[in-house]
Amino acid sequence: MIKKTSLLFTLFLVSSFALWAQDKDAVIETIIQEATENSQLETLGHQLMDGIGPRLVGTPQMKNAHDWAFTKYESWGIPARNEQWGEWKGWERGISHIDMVHPRVQSLRGTQLAWSPSTPKKGVTAELVVLPMVSDSLEFVNWLPNVKGKLVMISMPQPTGRPDYNWEEFATEKSFEKMKKEREEQTEAWRKNIGNTGLDRRTLPVALEKAGAVGIVASYWSRGFGVNKIFGAYTKEIPTVDLELEDYGMLYRLVESGQKPQLHIVAESKELGKVPTFNTIAEIKGSEKPEEYVILSAHFDSWDGGTGATDNGTGTLVMMEAMRILKKAYPNPKRTILVGHWGSEEQGLNGSRAFVEDNPEIVEGVQAVFNQDNGTGRVVRISGGGFLDSYDYLGKWLHEVPREITDEIETTFPGTPARGGSDYASFQAAGAPAFSLSSLSWSYWNYTWHTNRDTYDKIIFDDVRNNAILTAILAYMASEHPEKTSREKAVLPISNRTGEQLEWPSPRSPERNGGQN
Ligand SMILES: [Zn+2]
Repeated sequence: MIKKTSLLFTLFLVSSFALWAQDKDAVIETIIQEATENSQLETLGHQLMDGIGPRLVGTPQMKNAHDWAFTKYESWGIPARNEQWGEWKGWERGISHIDMVHPRVQSLRGTQLAWSPSTPKKGVTAELVVLPMVSDSLEFVNWLPNVKGKLVMISMPQPTGRPDYNWEEFATEKSFEKMKKEREEQTEAWRKNIGNTGLDRRTLPVALEKAGAVGIVASYWSRGFGVNKIFGAYTKEIPTVDLELEDYGMLYRLVESGQKPQLHIVAESKELGKVPTFNTIAEIKGSEKPEEYVILSAHFDSWDGGTGATDNGTGTLVMMEAMRILKKAYPNPKRTILVGHWGSEEQGLNGSRAFVEDNPEIVEGVQAVFNQDNGTGRVVRISGGGFLDSYDYLGKWLHEVPREITDEIETTFPGTPARGGSDYASFQAAGAPAFSLSSLSWSYWNYTWHTNRDTYDKIIFDDVRNNAILTAILAYMASEHPEKTSREKAVLPISNRTGEQLEWPSPRSPERNGGQN
């Protein structure tokens, strides 16, 4: 009798497990099928990157993006909201047009920096000057009146527009070594000279502006063919523009050879006062444990030299597509699945830090956070983030992902927590198990990250699709996991640099009133 009961019980266990396994496979199958046969990635990518454009904090385009995401989620039957967490200086980019008008006419490739003050409608025309070599700040101050009415070139002219990999392929070893040595010496001399002025990259443009310069011309080469990084301006009244290496170098040489080149710059922009900043949040409510959360995370903002396609348009697409798929394949999750499209990551993880600070009960209920923010490539690295038991659960979840996706993924357990870099750091600092889904580079650091070439054509949709499948399956597995995940922290190693024990990061407050200085 006892034996019989126990046999029946065993049979029951086996069959219910089999049933669950079958359901589980069905959900995963549906996820893969929906992602491959009904992908929305190309459409979403086109609407976001080509239609809305770059998403600099404080711009109308950032607000348009939040409204667009809200509408998308609602159209998929996923309740969404735009949560205000702060305010920022409002600004809108207008036309940038830069021409050399003397000693000959040539249209140049360049753009105003983010937050650059506007030129008058008709633009400004003036002669270019370069910084002198000075031995101290007094000598620099004595030189400063020379900039009155001039455009000042403040970047070092690069000796070559060919990236190192191109030299490596074609130059003789001797010639490559010589170039690198000369460039190093030039860079060091440039750095020292700027130091001698007593100013730095923030204060130099402001000093030039005060001395009567009519514009700042810079060039921040990103070490690839035709690619520059485009950040923010420090001037308050006069425009700051970035020129691509080829044009910048040509003008610099013309100044040095005494040709007195002149530019005509039209850099229109609008100051819009203080504007609110948001995170877009959408949720599929948990049916069994609604107060526990699986969070899909990707910052929504970008710099605005390109259209923010790989930083972080692709992370955004991964999370939106994963949510859309989950709503179809797994509409009644055990735990709540929440997606956060954070604002102002680029200025210091501000949107996610605000969310963590404002929602302690959600952070407390976190089962897992999955963040993606380093380009368009397929995920090849996942770290346990310093959570001691992360291998136990993350390892199990990854096991359910198709081998062709996980085969390339290198895992590190327990790993160490991040000190910044992207929004998962905001959650790790608060003790919530948060993980970075880290991508294959596709030349991210030189060619797309914060550059004028971060555009739709750089997206590798097959890899992004791969990441959407991975994310959706991880979210599903994390939601179904029998227990709440352990948050036990690993003891961190001794720092090589300081010789002291590394400590876990602690939560930091966001900037909630940005761009006001
Ligand atoms: Zn990013």
